[in-house]
Amino acid sequence: MDNLRLWHKFLQVIKPKTSAANFRTFFSQTILKSVEEDKIILTSASAFIKETLQQRHLPLIEQTLATLLGRKVKVEMQVKEFEQTKKTESEDDFFQPAQSQNYSLNPKYTLENFVVGPSNNVAFAAASAVVQNPGTSYNPLFIYGGTGVGKTHLMLGIGNAISKKRVSNGVIYCSSEKFMNDYVSAIQNRKMIDLRARYRSAYILLIDDIQFFSGRDGTQEEFFHTFNDLQAKNSQMIITSDRPPGQIEKLEDRLRSRFAGGLMVDIQPPDFDTRVAILKAKCSQWGNALPEDTLKLIASSSQLSIRELEGKLLQILQTLKARNLTPAAENIASFLNTSVQKRPSLTYKEVFLSVCQYFNIKNSDLTGPRRQKELVLPRHLTMYIMSEELGMTVEKIGQLLGGRDHTTVMHARDKIRQLINKDREVQRMFIEVKQALSTLS
Ligand code: ADP
Ligand code: MG
Repeated sequence: MDNLRLWHKFLQVIKPKTSAANFRTFFSQTILKSVEEDKIILTSASAFIKETLQQRHLPLIEQTLATLLGRKVKVEMQVKEFEQTKKTESEDDFFQPAQSQNYSLNPKYTLENFVVGPSNNVAFAAASAVVQNPGTSYNPLFIYGGTGVGKTHLMLGIGNAISKKRVSNGVIYCSSEKFMNDYVSAIQNRKMIDLRARYRSAYILLIDDIQFFSGRDGTQEEFFHTFNDLQAKNSQMIITSDRPPGQIEKLEDRLRSRFAGGLMVDIQPPDFDTRVAILKAKCSQWGNALPEDTLKLIASSSQLSIRELEGKLLQILQTLKARNLTPAAENIASFLNTSVQKRPSLTYKEVFLSVCQYFNIKNSDLTGPRRQKELVLPRHLTMYIMSEELGMTVEKIGQLLGGRDHTTVMHARDKIRQLINKDREVQRMFIEVKQALSTLS
């Protein structure tokens, strides 16, 4: 096996074992330089990548290579010299056109194919608000949440939606790793002016996984100035992170407070119904269909990461095809180890409380007969939240809200659903009520 093929194989094995962000940031920017009897030399695109791989992934790397080669090997890591950054053609195969390599957006991720459920609807509403009024409503929009819950998808969805509506060349997407590398190489090559010109020309700047800025003082300083410059020009910034700014270690306070000055929204792990809906959407995107009970089985096999679920779905579809099996639940049950966990749920009383506090009205206003505008909107919003978040039936909702007819509830729910996507005021109210609610749970 030549080095190229060995590395290809290696990446294939590693990919499902690591998060997409990790893979993109660390593995796809590393290549195999040489193989000797018991030593393998890998070259990474930056010292940061080299160190991260060494500290966090060395055992996995050595093990995987040993399995592929059938003998024990030691791995030595090097950093790619800057003079050598001009890639040869064959290397380009490894440096896949991953998002971290350039500033453009992957068109695959859109707001249309982002499935909305209770775990992400606040983030989605905020995203829609930003698309309608970039640079003004929420700047920056800071999206945080665990791995594989859809942060990058949502961020790119916003970028793509804005590119479609307006000029696309002002939309810059980059991983925080890319920003760091650009900064380091700008210093080394005395190209600071170019760097600034590039980032500050952005009309929309999307920075992914900013937790990697931790401890990088120079990068943080540069980003701080970029941030201020863009904010002064009303250019929209969207930032993602695997945790809220307050929990990112070694992050300058002034950046932390800048981030907090915009809107922070989180994406939670998806609930069961959302997982089923996402699986269904992915199936149809890939031109496949699986029966509902099969999808449910897959959805119940993993709670936290959609990326993981997607991986399982793909694997299952491939295996079914390869073994020529029907997609019946009993055929796939053996692939999955199922166990379902429910997340603690809100009660309708908490919804009432939050809405009443937010609009400064009384419980009896909500459930009572009066139909002033100031009461109708809160009431409808309550109905919407009860239906979408608590999964209550329209009949039950009508009953709890002073014995209203279920068709009234249905209309109200559908209307609010529309307004949340269209009307900035309603969007804002919804986001704020939901945030108040999330502090209760
Ligand atoms: P994160 O950046 O939070 O780690 P990603 O945005 O990369 O996660 O999402 C992981 C995978 O899950 C992607 O393929 C993405 O398309 C999919 N995904 C996540 N959330 C949704 C959603 N709400 N609807 C459809 N697909 C989703
Ligand atoms: Mg991501």
